[in-house]
Amino acid sequence: MSVSRRLLLLSNSTMSDKPYMEWSKDLIYQFLGSNVKNVVFIPFAGVSIDWDKYEDKVKTALNKLNITSIHKTRNYLESIATSDAIMIGGGNTFHLLHQLQHFNLIDAIRKRVIDDGIPYIGWSAGSNVATPDIGTTNDMPIIWPQTESALNLVNYNINPHYNEWKPEGHQGESRSDRLNECIVVKKRPIVAISEGLAIRVEGDQHIVVAPDLNIPNNKRMVKIWKHNKAANGDNIQVIDISYGQDIAPIVNN
Ligand code: ASP
Repeated sequence: MSVSRRLLLLSNSTMSDKPYMEWSKDLIYQFLGSNVKNVVFIPFAGVSIDWDKYEDKVKTALNKLNITSIHKTRNYLESIATSDAIMIGGGNTFHLLHQLQHFNLIDAIRKRVIDDGIPYIGWSAGSNVATPDIGTTNDMPIIWPQTESALNLVNYNINPHYNEWKPEGHQGESRSDRLNECIVVKKRPIVAISEGLAIRVEGDQHIVVAPDLNIPNNKRMVKIWKHNKAANGDNIQVIDISYGQDIAPIVNN
């Protein structure tokens, strides 16, 4: 019998007006349920934060869970193999992927999530690495991983912290300009999610989760960039997604 994949992919950890992880902690508790005892936390995206401090911050914010940061464990592969859930925090996505590859954790994490069905929680960089590659991160390549290929737990790219700001007079690319370029080359769907939103994957369903945060809809949005092959030439579509929508029919087709 095949097991069901379970992921909670959050755009961000902090909302500007709330304490760390406040907006998402109930989503995380509900997602994990009561059977999850030990959660391994991966702090490798942290560059200017010390990993001990990062662990403390996450443990304090999610104090109902029994969280251990992997950097405190003796054997990294063993802690992936024996934990009930995997949680990967934000920071610099290149640094995170570099470390995951350096410690040989890519296949080990994939096995636990895809074959064993243990829950995966990521935010920001932790959501970026759940996808096939990290080409749609907003981060700078401060270090080069061996390859851009990531965990490949879902079949689309994610752009976290999505926004449509364009300061007046600014001549650089907007976020959507960059995503337009990306899809021309990669052709794979890109799911752009603003802060305060998540994608919850349960088996074949990929549901947009939007807790009540009193944010106007034009500030909190999900859009999917989609490349379509057509007889009269390829085209690119940008599709607006509603809260609560299952995006599987769009990203799988
Ligand atoms: N730096 C982001 C994070 O908070 C990731 C991103 O924007 O791509 O993890």
